[in-house]
Amino acid sequence: MNLRIGNGYDIHQLVSDRPLILGGVQIPHELGLLGHSDADVLTHSLMDAILGALNLGDIGHYFPPSDPQWKGADSLMLLSKVNELIQSRGWRINNLDSVIVAERPKIKPHIPAMRDRLAKVLQLDPDCISIKATTNEKLGPTGREEGIAAYAVALLIQG
Ligand code: MG
Repeated sequence: MNLRIGNGYDIHQLVSDRPLILGGVQIPHELGLLGHSDADVLTHSLMDAILGALNLGDIGHYFPPSDPQWKGADSLMLLSKVNELIQSRGWRINNLDSVIVAERPKIKPHIPAMRDRLAKVLQLDPDCISIKATTNEKLGPTGREEGIAAYAVALLIQG
């Protein structure tokens, strides 16, 4: 059995007048994430973990912020492209694990919806997608609510 593991990290700044989208789900909050795309920090960290597992670089290489075609891009669409890329190389996702670091809002109630959305895009059982959430105990940029961060690990299997 051929296995590869990858990890991903991302952080985006919280600002007013932007929607908060995590795992493809819009979450009611007075602040949203700033970015060239929809700034879905969870999905970005998952994509980097998947790419990292096959040593394929990072999302900045495939979807550069300098390219106007990715402005406001739906990160789930980018995720499906990353999934196609690894499948074209003969690999598939075995499972994903992730952590969202956010002081506010409460993330936990939205996790089942995020897992369902990601599972649909990746054509995986939601059981293969773990999403956890933590605060940063008011420490650092995430703790001060200046941004939201996400960490992810992907295990890929050949065949
Ligand atoms: Mg990002």
